[in-house]
Amino acid sequence: MKRREFIGTTLAAAAAAGLSACIPNNATSPQAAGAGYPARSGKIILRFYPYELQLAHNFTVASYSRTTTPGVQVEVEYDGIVGYGEASIPPYLGHTVESVCAFLSKVDLAQFCSPFLLEDIMSYLDTISPGDAPAKAAIDIALHDLTGKLLGAPLYQIFGYNPSKAGSTTFTIGIDTPEVVRQKTLECAGRFRILKIKVGLDSDEQMIRTIRSVTDLPLAVDANQGWKDRSKALDEIYWLKENGVVLVEQPLPKERLDDTAWLTERSPLPIVADEAIQRLKDIPAIKGVYSGINIKLMKCTGLLEARKMIAYARAEGMMVMLGCMTETSCACTAAAQLAPAADFCDIDGNLLISNDLFKGVTVSDGLLQIPSGPGLGLTKI
Ligand code: MG
Repeated sequence: MKRREFIGTTLAAAAAAGLSACIPNNATSPQAAGAGYPARSGKIILRFYPYELQLAHNFTVASYSRTTTPGVQVEVEYDGIVGYGEASIPPYLGHTVESVCAFLSKVDLAQFCSPFLLEDIMSYLDTISPGDAPAKAAIDIALHDLTGKLLGAPLYQIFGYNPSKAGSTTFTIGIDTPEVVRQKTLECAGRFRILKIKVGLDSDEQMIRTIRSVTDLPLAVDANQGWKDRSKALDEIYWLKENGVVLVEQPLPKERLDDTAWLTERSPLPIVADEAIQRLKDIPAIKGVYSGINIKLMKCTGLLEARKMIAYARAEGMMVMLGCMTETSCACTAAAQLAPAADFCDIDGNLLISNDLFKGVTVSDGLLQIPSGPGLGLTKI
């Protein structure tokens, strides 16, 4: 697939759709729908192209190993201003570059009179298909970037968050040989305040002991559903706590709600759902099963829904963790805009790739630094 082909397709679609009146989704009439918004001063144009992320190191978790992550970059333009978005597509989620591009090809943003109609636009995207979360997230992120730029303000400011409360992020160390794990830990231990360790295979104890031979930093562990026995999992969690682990992510298979509730009730560490939670509508089913939820933009369709999930989780007394996929600084910087509202951040996807397209969120002395420019605050590399 070539970038030019996709741009050509979407521009043609936008031009055709631009002939219609400015009618936000579900509106009863153009007049009612347009109230409160300025008259159309331009069309919303969507562009997208595949972009494969190169991983700096081979990345292994409990269920797979890989050296690249497929992705699609998105641009939304309005009044000559461009917002950037991105779909990151780890293969285990069941999406492909083709499926993301097929979804984006169906999207007609030119029917909306304003990019500020985020609720209408995201509801419209859900009418195209029930899934395709990464593609929807790409559009959501680009629209947020665009509207922030149109307002001349960074998103964290529009959301009302204090960027100095963004806090620390973990850096993830995948499952590997002791030599590689030791080397990776040596490379990153001085730059972060907490590390996240992938576990869930037979090498868990070896992984933790290897890391402990290098650093005393607090650790989070992510089993990626890799543990199968709840009693053994509980024993391991006690051992992990003795070894400075502070949080456990997705210990058991996501379907095992009763066993996970059993584990969470007895666990000395918080148990956070990742694979078991995708979108806002999924939270009620895991209420009381997990201590918290790991919100990722690529799972939940973007910032608009992520903010609703944060509010819901808070109302239910659940911890909020913000995660990411391997992503460029575009999607990672979008997630970082929400960091001041989270208990725990795992926003390191841009640090795991070697071909970033943007400069955005950075990590200084282990703390997330959200850029202060309008929208996402990105600069193209
Ligand atoms: Mg996880």
